[in-house]
Amino acid sequence: MNTKDVLAILKEESTATDYERFLKQLIYKKSGSNEKLVIFEVPNKYLANWIKTKFLNNIKYAIEKITNQKPKIEIKVIGEKKGTKKEQSDSIQTSKLGDSTILNPSYTFDSFVVGSSNQMAFNASLAVAKKPGVQYNPLFIYGGTGLGKTHLLQAIGNYNVELGKTVIYVTIEQFMNDFTFALRNQNMEHFRNKYRKCDLLLIDDVQFLSGKEQTQEEFFHTFNELHSANKQIVMTSDRLPSQIASLVDRLKSRFEWGLTADVQIPGLETKIAIIEKKSELNGIKLTKDVIDYIATNLDNSIREIEGVLIRINASANLLNQEINLDLVKNLLKEQIKEQKENIKLPDIINIVAKELNIKPSDIKSKKRTATVANARRIVIYLTRELTHNSMPDIAKFLGMKDHSSISHNIKKANELIEQDENFKIIIENLKNKVINKEW
Ligand code: ADP
Ligand code: MG
Repeated sequence: MNTKDVLAILKEESTATDYERFLKQLIYKKSGSNEKLVIFEVPNKYLANWIKTKFLNNIKYAIEKITNQKPKIEIKVIGEKKGTKKEQSDSIQTSKLGDSTILNPSYTFDSFVVGSSNQMAFNASLAVAKKPGVQYNPLFIYGGTGLGKTHLLQAIGNYNVELGKTVIYVTIEQFMNDFTFALRNQNMEHFRNKYRKCDLLLIDDVQFLSGKEQTQEEFFHTFNELHSANKQIVMTSDRLPSQIASLVDRLKSRFEWGLTADVQIPGLETKIAIIEKKSELNGIKLTKDVIDYIATNLDNSIREIEGVLIRINASANLLNQEINLDLVKNLLKEQIKEQKENIKLPDIINIVAKELNIKPSDIKSKKRTATVANARRIVIYLTRELTHNSMPDIAKFLGMKDHSSISHNIKKANELIEQDENFKIIIENLKNKVINKEW
């Protein structure tokens, strides 16, 4: 058995991304003294952890296919001394990991492309990673879906795990589940040990604290304890603390104690750089014209662009064909058309109404209160951006006199985006929600 044999099977059985990013880095070392024990090496600790948690079964399967024996797998870091006996069994290692933090090893500062849309969030994250608990505490990263918040949060985590720090990364939902579980099982001590005794607490998507009173209360105490011990807290959210509905004031104010930094939709240059980086990481070869085409035609989240790259690559492999502009145009034709066709004006109205706490029917009414006029303006702006509807169509649908009032609203919206940071955030948030069909 050699590395090549194992990798060949893993490549067959895994997605292209998993293979290119993680599995490809496995090096078959040897079978241990115990003949069922098979040892692999990987370049670093977090990749080892990640592979152990996510891919152990795939690897077992591959080995079994070659040797016809059910193996025990050990994943070691290159150059690391032999572990203690206890650590050699993968079953023990996996259960030990149950409580620790699993970070995606590809979310590092190196793999993050910096542009003006995310410069400040990146710099702040790096500063915090290098000196946790010193400068910006808490760090609060906010912005639309798929724009790199989790990536930055986990990059801070990976950086510090490497340094041997105790890092807890969870979504606020996991925190909440842990808390409820601890309450039910009267095991608060275990819960508090986990969350109050770490060097860095990284909490993803805190907007979901909205309305969860008991969890807010517990999080408040966790926050205070960590903060007063100069332990670093980093949070992400899709909106500013002040915009999280039913969040108690004392948390709102604490979330703003340190630094808030946003990630925005990247401009063309940054998008191109991201596509280049992602295709390189995934082992996909793209020509310049293809990259430009993707960057100019997909203006949604980076997560979506990543999905597209993987699809393009899969199709090219299936068709046994080079990736060229024709292939890509053909593949994306439907998606780009669909992107616009799938979004309907009533959906936009509903989502805007819900977000701004008014009735959808108000937007189509003759009401002229500031809130309604603002909501209507946002609907008009988003409809022009995200659908094929013409100005007269929109005017007709909204019961407005003519299309000049539509173009006036669009002009006004563009001005506000330039001048009013809050308005811009609201628009970006809504745009993401509409694109991702979060209604
Ligand atoms: P969010 O948490 O803001 O919804 P993620 O951090 O999950 O978004 O990002 C979605 C995907 O886009 C991830 O795979 C991430 O690596 C990638 N991504 C986002 N921004 C960047 C960037 N600036 N450079 C490289 N990759 C990025
Ligand atoms: Mg995220």
